[in-house]
Amino acid sequence: MIVVMKSGAARKDRDAVTSRIKELGYTPHIIHGTTRDVIGAVGDERGKSVLQSLESMQGVESVVPILQPYKLASREVKKEASIVRISDTLAIGGKELVVMAGPCSVENEEQILESATAVKKAGAQMLRGGAFKPRTSPYSFQGLEEEGLKLLAKARDLTGLPFVTEVIDPESVELVASYSDMLQIGARNSQNFALLKKVGQIDKPILLKRGMSMTIQEFLMSAEYIMSEGNQSVILCERGIRTFETATRNTLDLSAIPVLKAKTHLPIVIDPSHGTGHYHYIAPMSYAAVAAGADGLIIEVHPDPEKASSDGPQSLKPKKFEALMEKLKLFAAAADKSL
Ligand code: PEP
Ligand code: MN
Repeated sequence: MIVVMKSGAARKDRDAVTSRIKELGYTPHIIHGTTRDVIGAVGDERGKSVLQSLESMQGVESVVPILQPYKLASREVKKEASIVRISDTLAIGGKELVVMAGPCSVENEEQILESATAVKKAGAQMLRGGAFKPRTSPYSFQGLEEEGLKLLAKARDLTGLPFVTEVIDPESVELVASYSDMLQIGARNSQNFALLKKVGQIDKPILLKRGMSMTIQEFLMSAEYIMSEGNQSVILCERGIRTFETATRNTLDLSAIPVLKAKTHLPIVIDPSHGTGHYHYIAPMSYAAVAAGADGLIIEVHPDPEKASSDGPQSLKPKKFEALMEKLKLFAAAADKSL
């Protein structure tokens, strides 16, 4: 249920409503709008009609059911787009198109510092790099783990770029959060509910990737797992889904952008590297994503892709990334975004 407060309702009225929601056994989530606040009352769906009684409370305009199974992520609860803050100077979901770039995996100091310097020079606002790698094969490179996080922090010190990196299990959430500016939940973990709940309890933005066989509704239910634990700073990332097509690694679902924009207030980022699996398809898919309304891109860039420990074929060399960034400005401007 959503409790819509009257515009200009007093703070004490709002507090009384949140207390009553708790008494009724539900969890209140206050969502601040531009003209009024709404309070999402989430919990067991079965007895929700008791919440209707809140309508008679001081300062309450209406109590309406949320029709979608995802509640806090829904546009029904929050009409305006959410802007997720990454640092004092950077946010995703607003006017600025945010490009995150860097290697699939952190391999060594020289590689990550060179990558960070190159993507910064080309105009990226964030660095990406995996320290804990969820590999399909147990025999593939698994990442440098904490050493990789230290190297990412060093690259941030050198360039000023905040970084996003993946966390693959609940036990390492605190460790990864202590170094990084944003935590990534990978496609393979997108329905790891223990992990989703754990990142829902921290105070860091979460880049949630769509699972490779996930419907849009399941994707939003995973976002809901994070948000229902208290962390509202969720950014959705479409990275391609499995279809019968084999010419590309995955099928990048660009229609997910307008569909998600209609269903949720959360920002949307596109990953054309994992979405296609081939470096030469990254630029056209990036332009198309921005034209379709994406709030950001996450792109794999490696100084020497032939020697990369993971995902070399879908990584751009710095020169090609620079050219992409230059042309992307035109698409960003056409989509009313700055870059
Ligand atoms: C990655 O970003 O390197 C990665 C493993 O992505 P995904 O989870 O989308 O496969
Ligand atoms: Mn990768």
